[in-house]
This record gives sequence, structure tokens and C-alpha cells, in this order.
Amino acid sequence: MITQVDVYRSLHRKVWSVRDRATELIEYRDTLVMRGVEFVVQPDGHKRALREGKKNVHAFARGEIMRTVPRVERGRGWLRVWYDLKRGCFWATTNGQTVMSLNEVSWVVFDDEGGAWVRIQDLEDGKDFQQAAVYTAETAAGSLRDELRFDTVDECQIWLTLITVEPWFVSVWGPNIHVRVEQGPGQTHALGWREDPSTCCMKVPKHLHMPSILLHELAHGLEPLDEHGPMFARTLLFLFEQVLGPAKRDRLTEEFENHKVVVGPPPGR
Ligand SMILES: [Zn+2]
Repeated sequence: MITQVDVYRSLHRKVWSVRDRATELIEYRDTLVMRGVEFVVQPDGHKRALREGKKNVHAFARGEIMRTVPRVERGRGWLRVWYDLKRGCFWATTNGQTVMSLNEVSWVVFDDEGGAWVRIQDLEDGKDFQQAAVYTAETAAGSLRDELRFDTVDECQIWLTLITVEPWFVSVWGPNIHVRVEQGPGQTHALGWREDPSTCCMKVPKHLHMPSILLHELAHGLEPLDEHGPMFARTLLFLFEQVLGPAKRDRLTEEFENHKVVVGPPPGR
């Protein structure tokens, strides 16, 4: 019989709490392996934890427990998972640098030192999992049909620089974020990235010198580790609201919903 469980770390007992979803009974394990795992964050519990500054069980791994535990070689091929309380999401760290948000994986190994491990393979499969959905939603919402067009890179640069000094922007990302726009000669697509802790860069070919594209690339600079994931999506919506107004934000929200784009909680302060 398949047992569906929710697994989380018991901070008091320093073991894994395994809650049977059918019986609600909890058992404790030093180690275990799960299959077909979804990382769950309950928004109400998350909000309460932030508000009260006290931990509660609102984030866990949900899946099928393996009764026989296969031997798993840790290290190469596996990445450690951690929970980001502030943002309310799970991450896996690769080579100490790249971080990806986690949603569903095929296996999780929980070790006796409080570590949870996922296979790199799973993350690569899920990497930039909603890029196509984001593009389709943006097109449907009218991106690429902006009335405002900028003639030169300098005009794009000025428009974006004025955004980064707005009080709402500074209250979220601080006063030290700068934007650098480069011409993208011979490019068909725009590109956005974070050059260093304070510089958001983008390369934008001339036919894409328009607000919705510049905001998309700015969102990449502000969420450099998430590709087109939930953190990117929520930041793009936030930029739309602040810069282009609630109507454009609502239009994009609607298309995100239509195309099942996962959107994270609003950017933190
Ligand atoms: Zn993009």
C-alpha cells in the first residue's frame, strides 16, 4: 500500500516528523526516502510565522514514503535543500552560487543530520520550467504591442534609471541598484541579468525598446537566480503595477492564471 506523508524537521527532537496523511499519525525517523515529492508551503501558516516571529509547521515535503530505504550515495549528483522562511519557498543550492526554486522532484533523501537532498537531474529537468508559459502569457496580455517605443539605448537607460530612484523601488531593493542597457546588435531576443550585487544589465535589440520588455529584463536582473520562476513572475507583476499601472498588472495576472504561471509572494522589503 502506498502511504502518502508530509515530512518536516522536528526542531525539538532533531529528527524527521513523518505525518501519515490518511491517519494523521506522526512517527519519527532519523532518515528516510520519499518518492514523487511536492514541496508545500501553506500561505496562512507562513504569514503567521512572519507576523509572530515563531516557527510553526507550514512548509513540508509531501509524497510517498519508501518503506525500504535504498542506499543513496550523497555528494556528487545530489543537492541540499533549504527552506527560506522570509520568502516562503524551498531552494536547492548548487556550487554555492546558483539557487533554484523547488516545486516537484522525483526523490528526496532525508539524512540523520537534518539534511534533505534532491537529485541535480530533477532540477535540470525542472529548470526554467515555466519559460514558455510566461512568454505566451505576456504575448496574450499585449506585451510587444506597447505604444511607447524608445529610439535609442540612452532613452531606455534614462527610463529605467528613473524607475530605480522611485521611493517604492528603493523601499524594496534599496538605493544601490543601477541599470545598464546595452544595444543588442544582431540579436532577436532581449537578455537581462545581474552583473554584480548592484548592477542589473540588459541587452535589448532596437525593435524591443519598449516598456514591457525592459521591465521583463529588469525583473531578471532583480531576480537573477530564478529564470522565469515564481519569484521572477511576482517581481514582473509588481513592476507592472508600479510602472504601468493596475490595469496592465491585472491583464498580465489574468494571463498568468490562464497559462498556469506560478507566481510567488510579493517581493519582500
Ligand atoms: Zn526572460
